[in-house]
Amino acid sequence: MPLAYGLAAVVGLVLCLTWGALQVQVTLAGFLNGESLWSKAQKQAVIDLTAYARSGEADRLEGFRRNYQVIRTDRWAREAIDSGHYDKHAVADAFRRGGVIPAAIPGMIFILDHFAQAPYVGEALSDWRSVDTSIDELNTIADQLQRAYAQGPLSPEEAVRQRTRIDVLNNFIQPRSDDFSLQIALGAAWLGKVLFISVLLTALLASLLWVRMAQRILAGIRGTEERYRLLFDSAADAIVMVDEVHGRILGANRTAGTWSGRDPHGLVGMNFHDLFVEGSMRSAGSSTIGLLRAANGLVRTVETHSNLTTWGTQPMRQAIMRDISDRVAMEQERRIAAEALASVAEGVIIADSERRVTTVNAAHTRITGYTLQYLQHHRFDELRRMADGSPLPASIWDMVAEGGNWVGEVQSWRSDGSSYPELLSISAIRNSEGRVQHYVAVITDITRSKADRQRLEYMVAHDPLTGLATRSEFQRHCAQAIEAAGRISGAAAVLFVDLDAFKAVNDSYSHAIGDRLLVKVAQRIRRELGEQDVASRIGGDEFTVLLGGLRTREQAGQFASRLLQSLSEPMLIGDYEIVMSASIGIAGYPLDGADPVTLIANADAAMYAAKTQERNTFRFYTPLMHADARMRLMLGADLRQALIRDEFHLVFQPSVELRTGRIVAVEALLRWRHPERGELMPDEFIPLAESLGLIRRIDAWTMRAVCAQIRQWDEAKLPPMRVALNASAATFGHPGFIDGVKQALQASQVSPKRLLFEITESAILRLGEATEQTMHALHALGIGIAIDDFGTGYSSLAYLKLSGIDYLKIDRSFVMDLPDSANDVAIVEAMLAIAKSLGMCTIAEGIETAAQHEFLLRAGCAEGQGYYYARGLPPVEIERMLSPNPRHEPSRLRLVPPK
Ligand code: C2E
Ligand code: CA
Ligand code: CA
Repeated sequence: MPLAYGLAAVVGLVLCLTWGALQVQVTLAGFLNGESLWSKAQKQAVIDLTAYARSGEADRLEGFRRNYQVIRTDRWAREAIDSGHYDKHAVADAFRRGGVIPAAIPGMIFILDHFAQAPYVGEALSDWRSVDTSIDELNTIADQLQRAYAQGPLSPEEAVRQRTRIDVLNNFIQPRSDDFSLQIALGAAWLGKVLFISVLLTALLASLLWVRMAQRILAGIRGTEERYRLLFDSAADAIVMVDEVHGRILGANRTAGTWSGRDPHGLVGMNFHDLFVEGSMRSAGSSTIGLLRAANGLVRTVETHSNLTTWGTQPMRQAIMRDISDRVAMEQERRIAAEALASVAEGVIIADSERRVTTVNAAHTRITGYTLQYLQHHRFDELRRMADGSPLPASIWDMVAEGGNWVGEVQSWRSDGSSYPELLSISAIRNSEGRVQHYVAVITDITRSKADRQRLEYMVAHDPLTGLATRSEFQRHCAQAIEAAGRISGAAAVLFVDLDAFKAVNDSYSHAIGDRLLVKVAQRIRRELGEQDVASRIGGDEFTVLLGGLRTREQAGQFASRLLQSLSEPMLIGDYEIVMSASIGIAGYPLDGADPVTLIANADAAMYAAKTQERNTFRFYTPLMHADARMRLMLGADLRQALIRDEFHLVFQPSVELRTGRIVAVEALLRWRHPERGELMPDEFIPLAESLGLIRRIDAWTMRAVCAQIRQWDEAKLPPMRVALNASAATFGHPGFIDGVKQALQASQVSPKRLLFEITESAILRLGEATEQTMHALHALGIGIAIDDFGTGYSSLAYLKLSGIDYLKIDRSFVMDLPDSANDVAIVEAMLAIAKSLGMCTIAEGIETAAQHEFLLRAGCAEGQGYYYARGLPPVEIERMLSPNPRHEPSRLRLVPPK
């Protein structure tokens, strides 16, 4: 627009100038025209006056007068203008009357008025003025001639004179008149030049200005365009201009290029839709969403807004694409989170920083019955109380606000008014400044698990068989009792109760009977308990009793006596009547220990002392007992080492034919040469080895040692004899036992006929069914079997009918009081009779006196063993005894080597 205005202004100016020049030219034309009229009038006046002077014709005078009037009028107008005060109309009228063209009149007046002194004009006007008097004189001549002609014709002299005067005047006027014309013409020409030059200069100047302006405007436009280009290219959105008709891209910004992996110019000409993954475009309200594909195959989700515009006449679509990949991913994440929230089994509450509920999940509604509408604007802790009924303490919120997570059990209410125990876990979502924005609470109805837990707690705390406390529960009670006693300087005691020979009950009857017996025992213990007392079963047949609130030590002793009395009364179990006894150890607080573990351990030590010294009794703990218990512990550790260090060895006790005194066999007995404690007897370590599971390895060692010994004796040419060895139940009952025996025999090349296994009555019972097969196998191998310690078990004689049993060894306890005890005499005679009827050989154990020997010999016992004949002896002693020429023995009975 400014350029157009500028151009219009330049053209207008040139037009104005041209119009001005034209006006000036018209004026000049007027001047020239005026001058020519004037000089024509002047010339005509001279001609007319000359003719008049000659002829005196009136129309010649008339002609003169008319021309003179023209000259006069012009002169009047000129003088009026010269005077400076003139009537424009009158002057213009005068010029018009002088024959000047009307269009030039204002210009003439203007020039005469303002440029009277201007070059050419000044000269022309002075020429004009210089002829004024001459012209007036011509008029005077005309007057004189008129007057002369009025008086008659003119004299020739007069006529000549007058004509001469006219010629003189004419000669004066003529050059001035010509100069006037010349000046006017020159002036016109000069002015014409001036006008041309000024019009030219003005037009040039205006053009120059216009060009400058155009330059400035163009530079401005170019700057704006660059700014827009910059904006276009640096836009974060991709902008693409698309030809509406053909769908071809006409322009694209840099972002569009980057996203599509091409140069923005390279996009020009492509089809807009080819930028997208095929079929991915879908409309979303006023925009479309599609997958924009880069040249490298990368895909991003873009939202496109487009609007129709025109470029010139070309309809065009401007497409603005925004990368919404992040938004789409976030929406996806949000949707997954929402779905996850809906599907979790636990109830979830999301609350604002004021703890007002904003969202709950489906599980929450299922658990509590509350709808979200109800809960919204309620604080979620309003419906919850701590287990003791108090509101949730402020410390919870402080802890959660500090970034912690609070988990605890609370009482919560359902919409139907019922309450339930709930596990509540609260955490917080905080903003970047660390202030809590939301609370997230996860709730679980723990009614079921709580009941389970209580049941479990009961089970953990109570022995399932007897219902008494377990060890850990007992220890807890102990700790409480100790604390209570400590406060009032009172006393407490722990009793360790162990049933005597309970194993025999288990072995002789059955485990079911054993269990029922334990239940009965528990009942009897419970019957004796006071209010502050607690009983527990801490092992198979081991019970502990806590006596709280004691005044004296004697009270504990009295309790133990009562308990022993109660337990010793016969118990009726099914068809059986069983008589039990127990051993009790007592340890008291504060004297014997200040913590539950010590008290129990010391009571145990006291019980052990009671049991080893005398059964069915109780003992108070003394520090000495503890030393014993400790020693047993240490012994266990040593026993593990004994095999490795080869600390075992065997002694052999001869078995003698009573009738002849001949040695018919030896029994291998184990000894342990302890590095510190010297020679240990089997009673001191075999039970320990059994309980530690070491017995099988020990028995295997014995087996090998016995075989080796037999071989050695054979090589020494000793008379061949039976060698008995003892096997524990664990060894005998093990599936690999027979194979082990075979291997040992094979390795030593010893005949199975030389071996005899001694198995106790209780071991046979304990092993049950399997025993028979093992016995069969041994029998098949040719190995003999003896029942050891016969008469000490509870069982009937039923197992005696088992095949393969060759010997019966009558236990020492029946031999001991022979022949004085009528009871024992009767028992032994009965045993001998049974054995005889079953075809078994009998061996009496522990014969120490000649009287015992005599009795047994008379009663019909075949063999005997005992200190009366010989103790367990080292192999060399046996060799010496059995050698062909034995030296005389100091023994009461002469030992006769086997034949
Ligand atoms: P047991 O099989 O009844 O062995 C007889 C025990 O009575 C032996 O004691 C023996 O020294 C002792 N004795 C023999 N005659 C008399 C006597 O006249 N008076 C007295 N008071 N005692 C006599 P020991 O050697 O202490 O063995 C004890 C128990 O250890 C054995 O009883 C046996 O059951 C077991 N035992 C011994 N050696 C082994 C072995 O190698 N393996 C296994 N498993 N047990 C063994
Ligand atoms: Ca034995
Ligand atoms: Ca025995």
